[in-house]
Amino acid sequence: MTAKPVLNRAQFHTSVAQLRDLPYSRAEVAFAGRSNAGKSSALNLLTRKNRLAYTSKTPGRTQLINFFEVDADTYLVDLPGYGYAKVPLATRAPWGRVLGEYLRTRDQLAGLALVMDVRHPLTELDWGLLEWFRPTGKPVHVLLTKADKLSRSAALQTLRVVRNTLAAASSNWTAQLFSSLKQTGVDDAEAALRSWLATDQPEEPDLEGLGVP
Ligand code: GDP
Repeated sequence: MTAKPVLNRAQFHTSVAQLRDLPYSRAEVAFAGRSNAGKSSALNLLTRKNRLAYTSKTPGRTQLINFFEVDADTYLVDLPGYGYAKVPLATRAPWGRVLGEYLRTRDQLAGLALVMDVRHPLTELDWGLLEWFRPTGKPVHVLLTKADKLSRSAALQTLRVVRNTLAAASSNWTAQLFSSLKQTGVDDAEAALRSWLATDQPEEPDLEGLGVP
């Protein structure tokens, strides 16, 4: 069987401002979330690279789609944080046209990792993004970050509510607790992302099972 992608091999690959510049890709997982939710910290921890996702925060890159290669033609994609500018929803799509089109039309996008501060989950902007993405039918995994900021019981209560709300909205929207500070939730997040990235890989036929020597 083909080896599963290893997230900690991630290397910065390219920044893209327009859809026509998207790199050739076999499969990718995109990270989205409100600015300051903890997306960069989560990406850095998942890839075991302390400063990897801060590349996305350097001047000129914050509004770009940043690609990190984790395996041959396989990417983690850091999308621009949304909701920073206090612009009324009615006057501007909070994530912009390029990002919107990317989310709707990118065939290689296997799923969306949506980062939310556990203390402010499922904001109006998060729902805007979820509703925008829903028609694709692709999975969403919510990382409730900064779980260390709540007591264990309060964090679990939030997780329960978020899971129930997501499950009521779509059968393949899931959630978990995550803390970059305490480094908790990493295994679960990795398992979710790896399974998405691996789904397209052709499995070699099980010759033994077919009675082939
Ligand atoms: P981004 O804008 O979504 O990329 O957010 P960052 O990863 O830059 O994090 C925003 C702020 O939250 C920074 O000050 C981080 O140190 C802090 N932060 C991120 N993750 C955690 C976490 O799991 N626990 C705590 N306590 N702070 C965090």
